[in-house]
Amino acid sequence: HEKINRRIKDGVPFFSLEFFPPKTANGVANFFTRLDRYNEGGPLFVDITWHMGSNPANMAKETSSSSIAAGCLNYCRVDTMLHMTCAQYTKEETIRHLEQCKSVGLRSILALRGDLPPVTEEDQKPVYKYRALDMIRWVRAEFGNYFTIACSGYPLGHPEAPSYTADLQYLKAKVDAGAQFIITQLFFEAEVFEKFVRDCREIGITVPIIPGIMPIMGYESIRRIAALSQLTIPDWILKDLEEIKNDDDAVGRYGTVKAVEMCRRILKNGSASSIHLYTMNREGFCREILQELGLWQKRPGRTLPWEPHGPNHPTR
Ligand code: FAD
Repeated sequence: HEKINRRIKDGVPFFSLEFFPPKTANGVANFFTRLDRYNEGGPLFVDITWHMGSNPANMAKETSSSSIAAGCLNYCRVDTMLHMTCAQYTKEETIRHLEQCKSVGLRSILALRGDLPPVTEEDQKPVYKYRALDMIRWVRAEFGNYFTIACSGYPLGHPEAPSYTADLQYLKAKVDAGAQFIITQLFFEAEVFEKFVRDCREIGITVPIIPGIMPIMGYESIRRIAALSQLTIPDWILKDLEEIKNDDDAVGRYGTVKAVEMCRRILKNGSASSIHLYTMNREGFCREILQELGLWQKRPGRTLPWEPHGPNHPTR
């Protein structure tokens, strides 16, 4: 069970992959086939995002975050971490969700606050009853060390934080409460991550900090994601993209080159030993990045029993 946590602590270079749950039953089949192919590269773990309204009690729904996570773990046999947000639930509901995770064998959680839906009054902000820190405390209090817990970190500070320094202190509180490693929000420039790691270490955050890498795979999509995350895309990137923005393949290739450059730098200077890829459920460019970085392990693909040459195939 401690595999994720132990290997991260060992400092052995690895990669991990984030996916969102597919939206349709057809998408589910494609998703697991893609994951099987990704598995050949030897990810340390994959993680599945959680969406407002997700509810593991609804395991029957094949596209729920928890069903997909259970499938990754039990069908594709890859260590799996489930994201879980707590802002929109009661404490009891969150604990019930964790019980459900336990019942399907999941032992790793990315504990998050999440966002509430915007309130109707225009200038009113949503009121958060619980934050990630609360959830981490509940998990440890109710489940001891059963779950490996990860938490989010924001290299530029969370947009709602009173200040960058306050956000760092809050991150330290999450780690002190039991988070065993940090996965960061996406960032566009290596120095942003490098500074964040230095600042974390300075205030005594000693757990591994894994850079969350979002390769640029589309002009509109990266602009949308940056806007949602309240991040500014640096001007030099926008300028580069301006010339190729209508050519999706060129944008993807540009994103691949830039992601490789940025990762090489932070891996080489020791700011990180591993990377976490936000795949957006895509494959080609992500795989290329991992191969370029030498993190892809080229394990033999698994042969399923019903495939030609599989162990149970009638021709054998
Ligand atoms: P928290 O860590 O709880 O922090 C929220 C804010 O509260 C911060 O600004 C923090 O500084 C502030 N704060 C809390 N307590 C204090 C205090 N005492 N004093 C001062 N400030 C305080 N969203 C999803 O809906 N589903 C997902 O699957 C998902 N996956 C994500 C994965 C990663 C790696 C990251 C980085 C984000 C992900 N998100 C996801 C987005 C996330 O839910 C939002 O960014 C959300 O706004 C914050 O969630 P959090 O757990 O990071 O919040």
